[in-house]
Amino acid sequence: MGLWIEESKCFGCGSCVQVCPGDLLYLTAPKKVAIREQRECWDCMACVKSCAHGALLTKLPYTIADYGATIRPFLGEGWIKWVCRDQEGREEEFLLPR
Ligand code: SF4
Ligand code: SF4
Repeated sequence: MGLWIEESKCFGCGSCVQVCPGDLLYLTAPKKVAIREQRECWDCMACVKSCAHGALLTKLPYTIADYGATIRPFLGEGWIKWVCRDQEGREEEFLLPR
């Protein structure tokens, strides 16, 4: 797995940088987020949950989905919605209680 950054959606607010427990994220000069070392990311998804702009996703391993497939959680009052997207951009949603 690993972190997928959609730079065009990043506004450089820094929320994800603040929450990463591994201090792996930083802002570049044009105020876009970047990751220092992808291999050190343990997919806790704290950064993904913190981004209100949808700029961060978690890559799914190719063993369970095609290359380029991603998953992103959305948190609500008492629920969590998982949105899975394949390499063609098709999405499937799973709504679960939490
Ligand atoms: S939280 Fe989202 S918009 Fe803010 S810096 Fe991180 S990726 Fe960019
Ligand atoms: S998934 Fe967790 S460890 Fe990986 S970059 Fe995001 S906050 Fe850091």
